[in-house]
Amino acid sequence: MDRQAEWVLVAGGAGFIGSHLVDALLARGARVVALDSLLTGRRDNLAHLSREPRFEFVEADITEPLPRLPRFERVFNLACAASPPHYQADPIHTMLTSVVGTLRLLERARNDGARFLQASTSEVYGDPLVHPQPEAYWGNVNPTGPRACYDEGKRAAETLAFDFERGQGLEVRVARIFNTYGPRMRADDGRVVSNVICQALADAPVTVYGDGEQTRSFCYVTDLVEGLMRLMACEAASGGPVNLGNPREMTVAELVSLVSEMTGTRSPVVRRPLPVDDPQRRRPDIARAQALLGWSPKVALEQGLEATIAWFADEIRAPEQPVAK
Ligand code: UDP
Repeated sequence: MDRQAEWVLVAGGAGFIGSHLVDALLARGARVVALDSLLTGRRDNLAHLSREPRFEFVEADITEPLPRLPRFERVFNLACAASPPHYQADPIHTMLTSVVGTLRLLERARNDGARFLQASTSEVYGDPLVHPQPEAYWGNVNPTGPRACYDEGKRAAETLAFDFERGQGLEVRVARIFNTYGPRMRADDGRVVSNVICQALADAPVTVYGDGEQTRSFCYVTDLVEGLMRLMACEAASGGPVNLGNPREMTVAELVSLVSEMTGTRSPVVRRPLPVDDPQRRRPDIARAQALLGWSPKVALEQGLEATIAWFADEIRAPEQPVAK
């Protein structure tokens, strides 16, 4: 094994984004430990790495004391349920994952002298009154509603991270991740892209919440992971968060039409009530990421959706993969 290869911890490494990040880190020569509670992450996402000598999987929940681990040079914290139905299923645990769990990882990174990257979220902007959302916008979050366990948890995680940067000499990077999609999303994730694709493939009714005029901006997972890697590597990205997302904004109705057309589904659209505190508009201002990281998304929505639809079509047919070590 290369003695120079750095040790990297990916908390949430069995998740949708985390597992793609693990792949990208391994491809660039790192030694990677993926830590995951498997609450929403899946062993299946890492099954292809079961023979990889530079990789180890550890099942653990970051709200509990951390197990014995190597000394890391880099710590990525992507551990948290991220889709509204999943993070609302156990809201207290969601909040503690972002607060207690992040604290444990920050302490660990400080003790190791590692650089720390926190996966934050566009949800810190709540139902935004500024559009598109730059990092300087403080947001419009309902602190007591059903989304608060996630939104306020992530806001508190950012606070902790920057307090460690200011007071404890930790090198901190914070990525505010906007809606991301791609292979390895769960079919039962509950978010619009996975729901609509799975419904369309099954010729089942496609669910549109509210009037479908609310907007989102969808980033393909490989673009997002490239942004995370660049942010972690960037020497000049301390002192504030960085938005990572695709600025192409569309309504939910437009997304549904596109997926329907691409899958050739005969599914009807059915309307469901708009969830409480569902943001009306969302689009990242990525000027900071462009300037600091030279980063912007490359994968067109149509191209990313094609790959995601193909993956879900396979997933629906394929049995579970064998368990990773
Ligand atoms: N949505 C929808 N149908 C679904 C799932 C979600 O119309 O089957 C809507 C949801 O109300 C929201 C948008 O799609 O306005 C994006 O929701 P998602 O859960 O994907 O992400 P988030 O709300 O966290 O941005």
